[in-house]
Amino acid sequence: MKGGVFGVIQLNADDFPKHYYNILPDLPEQLPFPLNPETMEPVKPKDLEPLFPKECIKQEFSSDSLIRIPEELREQYIFLGRPRPLYRALRLEKKLGLPKGIEIYYKREDLSPVGSHKPNTALAQAYYGKKQGFENVATETGAGQWGSAVSLAAMFNELKAEVFMVRSSFQQKPYREILMNLFGAKVFASPSEHTSIGKKLLQEKKNFNGSLGIAISEAIEKAVSDEKTFYSIGSVLNHVLMHQTIIGLETIKQFELIDKKPDVLIGCVGGGSNFSGMVYPFMEKKLKGKEDFEVIAVEPKAVPTLTKGEYRYDFADTGKMTPLIKMYTMGYDFIPEPIHAGGLRYHGDSPSLSLLKKLGFLDAVAYLQEETFEAARIFANSEGIIPAPETAHAIKAAVDSALKAKKNNEQKTIVFNFSGHGLLDLAAYKQMQRA
Ligand SMILES: *Cc1c(COP(=O)(O)O)cnc(C)c1O
Repeated sequence: MKGGVFGVIQLNADDFPKHYYNILPDLPEQLPFPLNPETMEPVKPKDLEPLFPKECIKQEFSSDSLIRIPEELREQYIFLGRPRPLYRALRLEKKLGLPKGIEIYYKREDLSPVGSHKPNTALAQAYYGKKQGFENVATETGAGQWGSAVSLAAMFNELKAEVFMVRSSFQQKPYREILMNLFGAKVFASPSEHTSIGKKLLQEKKNFNGSLGIAISEAIEKAVSDEKTFYSIGSVLNHVLMHQTIIGLETIKQFELIDKKPDVLIGCVGGGSNFSGMVYPFMEKKLKGKEDFEVIAVEPKAVPTLTKGEYRYDFADTGKMTPLIKMYTMGYDFIPEPIHAGGLRYHGDSPSLSLLKKLGFLDAVAYLQEETFEAARIFANSEGIIPAPETAHAIKAAVDSALKAKKNNEQKTIVFNFSGHGLLDLAAYKQMQRA
């Protein structure tokens, strides 16, 4: 059988998708528009041109179901190891004592050079930016996952990357900075001397440790004030989620190869990009009433946007520089506990994911940090791969779903997105062991 040997389901390079899937035209309701906070009028695509490549803005508002991936960009994805394998978690299943008929699968997004799904969109944004004639890309990063992806993508597309990294992470997590430097990026501890916002904060001796909100403001300032620089964003927006759909499109083909269909789809949610990337291509059939399956979005109890947040218009950033978007939110000024899963600390969720939750097309669960690390340890100790603390949330949900099926004597095929590895998070594992 092609691909299914020993639980590793592989595709060939020419099976890599030729299109991204855009869920917008298939949504049961019109997605609420982003609003300009001053006028409360819908944001016009033109307003975004100082920030993003035009092609990204076009994709953001597109009503086409399929958006063609340019051949040169496909080559970049393939060169960086796509399509990625789908694994059956045979050893985890055994460790959990699952009976025949309950199967767990996971998609290996950890296999990118920076260890997460994030290059899937960073590459596309860098490619479109370069095509339009930009020379530099500016972005922010918290713990460094997104900054690493942008640095890699910039290098591949011959752009210079400038990354504003929250100063507290810059000091506590030196390895990501080293990685970004190796790819030729300039990394600034934020607040920095390189923007007027940063200078002002440093002079006032305010917020010296920085925050993601401040780093976003610095990157945006950089892009707006220099016409050769665009701004790259790692999650939440429609076009970002759409670039990630290559994950689910590949996974659909992989399940076809083994002649199965998942009953449960799972992903962890920060802004929603890796979750949507896995789930949206499957969701098309659920939205059209052709298939039914369970969909579980997993979040930390420390940032319970989908399980406890409000569905309303809110700012996308702490600095109130962005348009208002309608989403589940804890409030733009929410300060979450410093959990290890830094990628899941965002105060809101992508608008399309929020709408689908509101309309009942997906369930959300929240877990405590301790429970997720326990699941990650079981996974590492059976499958031999160390999960990122974010990914540990998806694993916990997959394990719970499998054990529930066992208890109820049900047959279940479960798949989750393995969003990233935890090899640069070993200190967190050590801390959690002591706790
Ligand atoms: C950034 C990140 C996440 C969360 O971001 P989403 O946009 O919700 O996908 C999850 N897992 C890993 C490994 C990450 O780096």
